[in-house]
Amino acid sequence: MMSKVYLVGAGPGDRGLITIKGLECLKKADVIIYDRLVNKELLDYRKKECELFFVGKESSNHILPQNEINHKILEEAKQGKIVVRLKGGDPYVFGRGGEEAEILYDNDVDFEVVPGVTSAIGGLAYAGIPVTHRDYASSFHVVTGHSKYDDNLDINWPALAKEKGTVIFLMGIGNIKHITKMLIENGRDPNTPVAFVSWATKYDQKTVKSSLEKAYLLVEEKKVKSPALFVVGEVVALTKKLGFFEKRPLFGKSIAITRTRAKNSELRYKLENLGARVIEIPTIQIEGIEVEKEYLKKMIKNNDYIAFTSQHSVKYFFNALRKHRIDKRILAGSKICSIGEATTSEIEGKDIYPDIIADNFYANSLADKIIDDIKINGNNRIMYPCSEIAPGDFEEKLNENGAVVHRLNIYSNKVNLAAKEEVINIFENDKIDYITFTSSSTFNNLVELIGKENIEKLKMIKKVSIGSITSKNMTYSGINPDLESDKANINSLVDIILSDVEKNF
Ligand code: SAH
Repeated sequence: MMSKVYLVGAGPGDRGLITIKGLECLKKADVIIYDRLVNKELLDYRKKECELFFVGKESSNHILPQNEINHKILEEAKQGKIVVRLKGGDPYVFGRGGEEAEILYDNDVDFEVVPGVTSAIGGLAYAGIPVTHRDYASSFHVVTGHSKYDDNLDINWPALAKEKGTVIFLMGIGNIKHITKMLIENGRDPNTPVAFVSWATKYDQKTVKSSLEKAYLLVEEKKVKSPALFVVGEVVALTKKLGFFEKRPLFGKSIAITRTRAKNSELRYKLENLGARVIEIPTIQIEGIEVEKEYLKKMIKNNDYIAFTSQHSVKYFFNALRKHRIDKRILAGSKICSIGEATTSEIEGKDIYPDIIADNFYANSLADKIIDDIKINGNNRIMYPCSEIAPGDFEEKLNENGAVVHRLNIYSNKVNLAAKEEVINIFENDKIDYITFTSSSTFNNLVELIGKENIEKLKMIKKVSIGSITSKNMTYSGINPDLESDKANINSLVDIILSDVEKNF
């Protein structure tokens, strides 16, 4: 097989800022060699067998020497692999991407470059600073504050200082005094507005502003952390109007959500879009349960209703159909029943529109609806694909009313005990403002996972319950929820957090 190396720009931090082409490369890579500034969440898109190599350590300056990185890329490529060299921002903006590409050329390795959003432009945009503006800047310069030969910056200061446009320094924090001094000495107005933007486009982005003259004082005073951009120019004055990112209502808040390993949850996206940092606590491990093909077919055909009481039951039921190549038309004789928005939208995602939907979030209310329907139709067989640990009350209620329930355990729902240390570590070291519980079981699972003796660790965190049943269950274990959403759904849960933030911060 032909090998290929892709030099891919990951964008400045926000995982949404990678290009479609970059993402496609990540999905097909056999190996990904990535840097410190790359958002690690992007690695979740890799295929299962893909190998990962990290070539930059968190503690700055301790980076794998460039020749070793080059060697690694070549070595992997020579094995006929698809190699992605994933770099922060754009690969050719101070990322040594040019050097890496040259070495590939010199060694006859086929390569392509996938440009990325550079922090120098995209990072500033998130801080509310447009690099150019007809009223303030008709050019921009991107300059390194740190050269290969260190202090001896190869910069034409007189020309740079005369420039009225925007000047952006990358890697400039350590050299800030020298940089500002040279600009002023060579003629730039000491009152020119400047800003530092650290961790641009990430949940902890921080923008601090000053004047060129006083900038170096700010680094210590405001504890400006690397990586940071230093930007000089009149456009900085626009942050007040254009700084959309740090103005989002949950910006600066950390919210833990208790969910499965499966990423990309609805709750997560809603909170992130409002600006929160979301930490997923992997309490539950969900897996499909194998069902034999003929058994599954027979079961479906012997029913008048199929009742789904969770999103997962829909997902794993249809996975089983797909696995056995059982056509959806087999469902034609059954009325499809659903509960809650999430389950219903999962069903609708299969292009099937439920016949019966419960009035509220509770399984009992779905049972009532089905019983009403049975009274009219006389058909009374219900198939119930569910979790191995789903409680029996739904079935009981139906049985009591003369219905016949065929339960099918379609997924298992186990406490992810392997994650105990990881989770305790999160509670000990991350400053978390809120933790959400979207069902009684997410709470119970967390307690089982960390152990009763560690429950104290939740003390300083505001606990948010999705509804009265979950709250009761928590109180029973000695933990009082601080907030409870009005309606038992995700939107209402998000609303209650929003109004709490408004009130208290
Ligand atoms: N290729 C990258 C730059 C690599 S050099 C790009 O195009 O963005 C590393 C420097 O980039 C850092 O020292 C910092 O000055 C800047 N940088 C990269 N990502 C950043 C971010 N999210 N926030 C602020 N500065 C960032």
